Amino acid sequence: MEDCIFCRIAAGEIPANIVYQDDRIIAFRDINPVSPTHLQIIPRKHIVTVADVSDADLPIIGEMVKVANRLAMSEGVAEKGYRLVINCGKESGQEVPHLHLHLLAGRRLGRMG
Ligand code: 5GP
Ligand code: ZN
Repeated sequence: MEDCIFCRIAAGEIPANIVYQDDRIIAFRDINPVSPTHLQIIPRKHIVTVADVSDADLPIIGEMVKVANRLAMSEGVAEKGYRLVINCGKESGQEVPHLHLHLLAGRRLGRMG
């Protein structure tokens, strides 16, 4: 997906502040953070939304959550708490059509929605 911004970040074609990467997952700081800690955890594989995750790809979701939990520890926010968000589709506000898990922390977060 050469015109997908998150695929291009994963490929190293667009710079990002990368905080974690392995052969399946990459995580980086959000360019327009809404909280003091705002990370994106994404699969390298181009999957458009969480609704497009096939049974075969389900382990990717677990890996994304595992990386998010580890990053919450390394960011020093695990104890106070954090929020993991996956937006899906128009009404959720999903802007980037590549599956991503937001890790939000560092301030008291308001109610959802
Ligand atoms: P969504 O609204 O799709 O759930 O979230 C997309 C997120 O990606 C937003 O928080 C936005 O700030 C972030 N974002 C969009 N483009 C870029 C980019 O080029 N680099 C980084 N680091 N974050 C981006
Ligand atoms: Zn992509």
